[in-house]
Amino acid sequence: MNLGVVTSGGDSPGMNAAVRAVVRQGVALDARMIGFRQGFQGIIDVDLRELDAQSVSGILDRGGTWLGSGRCPQFTSEQGVRKAIDTLHSLEIEGLVVIGGDGSLKGAHALNRQGLRAVVVPATIDNDIYGTEATIGYDTCLNTILDAVSRIRDTASAHDRLFVLEVMGRDSGELALNSALAGGAEVVAIPETGPPWDVVREMIEHGHQRGKLHILIIVAEGSLSADEMAQYVSRNFPGREVRRSVLGHIQRGGRPSARDCIIASRMGARAVTALVQGGSDVMVGLQGEELVLVSLAEAISRKKEIDLSLLDLVANLAR
Ligand code: ADP
Repeated sequence: MNLGVVTSGGDSPGMNAAVRAVVRQGVALDARMIGFRQGFQGIIDVDLRELDAQSVSGILDRGGTWLGSGRCPQFTSEQGVRKAIDTLHSLEIEGLVVIGGDGSLKGAHALNRQGLRAVVVPATIDNDIYGTEATIGYDTCLNTILDAVSRIRDTASAHDRLFVLEVMGRDSGELALNSALAGGAEVVAIPETGPPWDVVREMIEHGHQRGKLHILIIVAEGSLSADEMAQYVSRNFPGREVRRSVLGHIQRGGRPSARDCIIASRMGARAVTALVQGGSDVMVGLQGEELVLVSLAEAISRKKEIDLSLLDLVANLAR
């Protein structure tokens, strides 16, 4: 049996651990494994390499993706998907493991609809995919943010400053909310709710009364920018010194955490087993500590809920 593997869309730490698991599990189950470079574009361009167990040696704890990733606009058309399927059929590839985020899920679903069996391993720092409690890369990214929070707190408290830290999360506040909770931020702004102006005001006024002048505000990029938050504070609290920091792309890279290596290894192996057993059109999800198979149609059509009660907890614990 010939099986393919591809990493697609935004890269995330732990993708390599997933590729390694896919290849090694495939080889163990007597499959011939083919890796496509640069996401779905590599399938259309027939940019591939055959992968044996040894070829994935030494990649387990490397960030980024060794296969390369990318966005492939052509794939959003039926014609693009058709072209990829023609390539896969001509190579006698019976199934494909797609490692990527929500866009990649849609691409994999399109492949299934046109007759090519594809199984997804969810990998995105945003952790915004329905049907899985964790996605590969989220834990590493959260820890990177927490490292920055800890450093910023040191300087904020030394100088009694107010800091605004902008983190990733265009559509999801998961990273901002959980880094605020774990890092003891006073305020967090997420895209799921409006800007928390009243909390900002309360925290600053409350801080003045208690003599606690160092304040950390975490904003998710999809909520408002660090600049916008800093402007609000300066306008409403003249004389209050505000510093801002935008974490940017350091959040994407780096060595994957133990947790990400573990879920990537488990999910990658499970995806291959599912394909070998005839599975199709599913994503491997983590629910509790169990791996489950979730239909792609369901994972795509439903939105993962964020626990909004954590917003109050962040504020309560910072008072
Ligand atoms: P991510 O997988 O990280 O969310 P993207 O949103 O860029 O990243 O999606 C990755 C790729 O998935 C896109 O470049 C495109 O090739 C494919 N894709 C995205 N949306 C669709 C769709 N609706 N139908 C088919 N393919 C899609």
